[in-house]
Amino acid sequence: MFRGILIDKQDGKQSAKLTEIAESDLPEGAVTVRVEFSTVNYKDGLAITGKSPVVRKFPMVPGIDFAGVVESSDSSDFRVGDRVLLNGWGVGEGHWGGFAQKARVKAEWLQKVPKEFTNQQAMAIGTAGYTASLCVDALLSHGLTPDRGEVLVTGASGGVGSFAIALLAKQGFQVVAATGKANEADYLKALGASQVIDRNELSQPGKPLQKERWGGVVDSVGSHTLANACAQTRYRGFVAACGLAQGMDFPASVAPFILRGVSLLGIDSVMAPREPREKAWARLARDLDSAAIDRVSTVISLEQALRAAEDIVAGKIRGRVVIDVNR
Ligand code: NDP
Repeated sequence: MFRGILIDKQDGKQSAKLTEIAESDLPEGAVTVRVEFSTVNYKDGLAITGKSPVVRKFPMVPGIDFAGVVESSDSSDFRVGDRVLLNGWGVGEGHWGGFAQKARVKAEWLQKVPKEFTNQQAMAIGTAGYTASLCVDALLSHGLTPDRGEVLVTGASGGVGSFAIALLAKQGFQVVAATGKANEADYLKALGASQVIDRNELSQPGKPLQKERWGGVVDSVGSHTLANACAQTRYRGFVAACGLAQGMDFPASVAPFILRGVSLLGIDSVMAPREPREKAWARLARDLDSAAIDRVSTVISLEQALRAAEDIVAGKIRGRVVIDVNR
């Protein structure tokens, strides 16, 4: 038996609890991992609270990412004792995830933890940091350079936002952080933001074309915020869109795209192929220092994860919440 959180649905009502799970109930997979750390992502919050239909099969162990040690392996790619991590692939949605002391998954979903990171640090970064890195890779590979102007990061105090700020600042960009938490200005500046603005400046309906300001944008918020960010992006600028914290809608016009040549770059971390994943993790290993990782993260127990899931959906979390599944 091992401990884990199980989400179940009975008579149409969804509930989540910390419980004992039999090893024989683990799903099929070539590699069994002794999970050490997982994290509370926005999607995990949606899964546990049932606010969105993230979970596609019941009962489900949530947790879209984890890091741990290989306990047994039928794959030639992984040996017992290897330090591994997993991001996405529908884990925690359609296949049991990381909010438990054990997980069994397909070998191709796993990757080795970069040697620069402990397993705890790998999860402090987690899917949020990896997604931020995918966003930065997208902006840079399209040719964004610091001389093209300031870069806006929305949802700035969240997981994706925090790491996007640190990675962009490291590349020499002037980063403007849009946040609803005015009291986190010092935190955002310590990560590398050169200016902090109130997210309300972006969250209301706006004109299709506005004063040009941003060379690039990393947006984890969607809705009017994304529409306004596009409307304020400079000629031939780039907007990387990865999230929906404000809303799934995109109430925008085509004006920024057809009149200013703005490019909207969609970012998906879940099914991203191996090559961009490894590139994103290589950037994290190269560009993040331990101090930034520690600044961004707090550690909680499995039991506390239930409460943290509610908090992240309510927008009350700063940075990243790591779950020590053995605590
Ligand atoms: P967090 O909850 O950590 O961060 C989201 C941040 O958005 C909050 O901290 C808050 O920042 C801001 N925010 C929250 N509610 C609102 C609102 N109503 N209006 C405007 N801003 C709001 O989540 P993550 O960073 O983990 O994820 C961010 C988003 O990205 C989520 O929607 C998530 O689902 C998505 N995502 C997508 C991935 C992909 O593959 N495409 C992968 C990972 C995440 P502040 O208080 O500073 O304003």
